[in-house]
Amino acid sequence: MIIEKTLLICPVCSRSLEDSGFRTVKYPTDLSRNSFLSKPHSILFCSSCGVGVAFPKLSDEQLLEFYSQSGYWNNSRVEVLLPRKFPGHYALSTARWRIIKPVIKKITKAISMLDIGAGQGFLGMVAAKDREICLDSYYIVEKDNVLRESLKKTWHKGYPKIKLKVEDSLEAIEGQFDIIILSNVLEHLYRPKDMLEKAVEKLAEGGYIFADLPNQDYLFKLDVFPHLTFFNKLSLQMLFEKSGLSLQQIACYGRDMQGSPAGRGKNRVIFKILENLFYKLRFFIPVCISKRFYQWYYGTVTNNPQGTWIRALGKRSRGVNESSNHY
Ligand SMILES: [Zn+2]
Repeated sequence: MIIEKTLLICPVCSRSLEDSGFRTVKYPTDLSRNSFLSKPHSILFCSSCGVGVAFPKLSDEQLLEFYSQSGYWNNSRVEVLLPRKFPGHYALSTARWRIIKPVIKKITKAISMLDIGAGQGFLGMVAAKDREICLDSYYIVEKDNVLRESLKKTWHKGYPKIKLKVEDSLEAIEGQFDIIILSNVLEHLYRPKDMLEKAVEKLAEGGYIFADLPNQDYLFKLDVFPHLTFFNKLSLQMLFEKSGLSLQQIACYGRDMQGSPAGRGKNRVIFKILENLFYKLRFFIPVCISKRFYQWYYGTVTNNPQGTWIRALGKRSRGVNESSNHY
């Protein structure tokens, strides 16, 4: 079958998984959730670079329907997106900004930011509020229809002076950007290299790409759906280099994978009770306190080789065509 053969090519190093003698593990998922989709049952690992690919493949149509119809975010209505309402996501954005800001500060002009798969757009919000940075424009790619409208409402109300554009695909975005964000995006794609190469094309001279994604979450999560590609530090490093980026930084962050509240660790129940309580009270708690709570809860800013996330920062290294034809 054509679909299966296509899948058996490694999305990072382009080698045939069959030839490299791939290994397989079970795809962790809760079959009762999103049961209208036929989910993958296995993850196939490239023995050369270590990246994993969900198998069998969902079609592009199934995935588009899932993301565009609020299947991922479960948004039911357009609203102003407040950090207080989503304190965990906000805390993660502030942790990402700690890595991005030191390099962005060196650019001595107003900054343009492109956030691909922006979610609530909190990273843009953190950048906009930072007085040491002048954010001039914030462009967003977001598949979720309701979330796109919420982002427009939020920014027109809260940040009317910053140029905003919200689109449903990267193809609709024009221009070059000083910083391009891919937070929790690459693991949702079968062809992450295509996405990264397209992003590289949109980098301004001296611009940076930042990616944040789970570190081998099949090892500790009960349900990894809808993740399709599974990275470790080495495979993400290779992906950056093969997409025409020179790596400036790469490291893992967060609590130990096995002890993460996002996983099946022994303290999971206690963690969950505590977080549920905090979440219920979130509207009465100042955002700076919530941020501290989630920094502790997830270990968002803790540099840890066994941590739950990999964060990488890269700069354009050479022509994109040169890198993509490597194999
Ligand atoms: Zn590979």
